[in-house]
Amino acid sequence: MKEYSLHVASKGFYAGPVFAAESGKAAVIKRNITDTGEEVSRFEAAVAKMTAGLDAGNYASRTQEVMDTVRLFLTDEAFLDEIKTYIRKEKCNAEYATTLVAYDYARRLKLSESEYLRERSEDIEGVAKGLTDVLSGRESAELTRFSAIVTDEISPAQLGAFDQSLIGGLITDKGSPTSHVAVIMSAIGAPYLYGAGAAVEEIKKAAYVIIDSEKVIIDPDGEMRAAAQERMKAVAEDRRQAESDDVCCRMRVCANIAGPEDMAEVAACGADGVGLFRTELLFLGRDSMPDEDEQYEAYTAVLDETDDEEVIIRTMDIGSDKKPRWMKLPDESNPALGMRGVRVSLENEKIFKVQLRALLRAAVYGNLKVMFPMIASAWEIDRITHLMEEAADELELEGTPIRMPDIGIMIETPAAAVMAEELAAGGKIKFFSIGTNDLTQYTLALDREAQGLERYYDPQHEAVLRLVRMVVEGGHKHAVTVGICGQMAADTELTARFVEMGVDELSVPAKLVRRVRVAAAKAESAGGSVCAAEAMHKGGEILGAFADGELIPMAEIPDRVFAEGTMGTCVGICPQNGSVYAPCSGRIGSVASTKHAITMMADDGTEYLIHVGIDTVKMNGRGFNVMVRDGQRVEKGTQLMEVNLNMIKAAGLSDMIILVRLNKQ
Ligand code: PEP
Ligand code: MG
Repeated sequence: MKEYSLHVASKGFYAGPVFAAESGKAAVIKRNITDTGEEVSRFEAAVAKMTAGLDAGNYASRTQEVMDTVRLFLTDEAFLDEIKTYIRKEKCNAEYATTLVAYDYARRLKLSESEYLRERSEDIEGVAKGLTDVLSGRESAELTRFSAIVTDEISPAQLGAFDQSLIGGLITDKGSPTSHVAVIMSAIGAPYLYGAGAAVEEIKKAAYVIIDSEKVIIDPDGEMRAAAQERMKAVAEDRRQAESDDVCCRMRVCANIAGPEDMAEVAACGADGVGLFRTELLFLGRDSMPDEDEQYEAYTAVLDETDDEEVIIRTMDIGSDKKPRWMKLPDESNPALGMRGVRVSLENEKIFKVQLRALLRAAVYGNLKVMFPMIASAWEIDRITHLMEEAADELELEGTPIRMPDIGIMIETPAAAVMAEELAAGGKIKFFSIGTNDLTQYTLALDREAQGLERYYDPQHEAVLRLVRMVVEGGHKHAVTVGICGQMAADTELTARFVEMGVDELSVPAKLVRRVRVAAAKAESAGGSVCAAEAMHKGGEILGAFADGELIPMAEIPDRVFAEGTMGTCVGICPQNGSVYAPCSGRIGSVASTKHAITMMADDGTEYLIHVGIDTVKMNGRGFNVMVRDGQRVEKGTQLMEVNLNMIKAAGLSDMIILVRLNKQ
């Protein structure tokens, strides 16, 4: 038995056999070729063979995204021509030309300002590896049983070529917690450790390994193995649940996107909406600013892909590591603390106005909300709203249709977190979204781009978590909803804490939506929350819980009007606390003058009544703090009211909360 401590790129637990995979970068030797025409034909045949493999569905169990990327490169004429030209010019073998050209492509992509393109650099290295394998007749060994893959280095394409259902874990030497490989492993729900160095060879030879947090235990004793085997049953159950479609939770789970091209994946992962659209990516990697129409097209393209689900668009978060070529920004010794985020917008109001105009126009086409990055002070919000109103007035004068969207701010500075209650009280803000990547950077005084300071970076730092709680409490006091859209939102070890804090929404990469939803559902049920979906389905959509507590079937509701379904189908909840939530997205119809009942119209036209307590009309509004108003749009999980249950009980009444699907007239 031996133990190693490595770096964690994806958390999880694994116990079982290992699968020694070939390195992602096999050594390729240059050979001189006399008949370059024949060599080019050999290269073309390899491309055709790999493409035929894709067409034949040989990779059907692999991730679609990886296969799409492989296909993209295999049909990229410029890429293929560059390799053929290299073969002819250098009179060398196709394996060498492919590797050299692909790695040069990858190097150029790695320098790109676009995160998307930088990620593609890993993919192209994988495509080169696949092609050289075909050229040299090396067939990749198949993963045939559930195992932990062990190798020096692996590309997303190489990882994607394995059957995901058989990947129990991954151990490499080279790797990174922010790589595409790390995201794939997190999406699978399996651990990934890197930094194994020379131990890779030893781990490859192990008959059995345990991966637990940062530890790898090689060939454990019988007792340890039996305990690990037991833990693996829970891991298997979590993976099974993450693949099923009917997991539901009160917490809204949304996806982060970089542009309209990500919307297919958002639809496939079942996200509740888009919680963060990082628009600055539209501004990078080009020589001029995208004009109003171009921006408007991009925003409406995203809205067109939704059925009125929420789409939160963040205005350009430029500066620091994201500098467009066309914009003159100062050379700063400390750019993360300088001209970045909303400061760039407020110092370049003309450019900012173009974006605001495009957003106001796009808002007509969907449930668009707009948020602003890096806010530190209330005056910034005042200035933004002033500019927004100015832009709206201009457009109205021009006769252009617009809609004023709800606005929110990112909480990324400790200043904004500490002042959250005051910022919420100002009344201009409808939601907060906590950018934990920056909030961690500024709270720990640790540059998020810094190398070699990993031991000082704690992605679960208690100081940041306390600030998150402060923001939730401050926001909720003034009916401002609170989401998290930084990397912390995807950390399923923290989901239960976020549920307990009352966080309203988590927004994560699309690949991780299902996994986070499973974690949220689990945490909610452990905390007594129930999912009304089991009791009441409407069409295809699953209703969320409207309160935390025990679910009561219609027939057992202690009031004949409800129990006999006079008004419609009902379900009750014996509440554990006084929070009442919207079970679906839609609009508030009316709030009773006695505040104990709210009607709402779901997006599909179904009408619901949420009735708090039985005979509570008698309380005349005492003990009911309603947080919504007639006609207001609400999302599934939005808090509707906070009720003082003790007051209801003290009045000798039942506090059961009843949801009624009203009969159509
Ligand atoms: C964050 O800071 O957590 C965030 C979501 O914004 P970005 O990562 O784009 O800075
Ligand atoms: Mg940020």
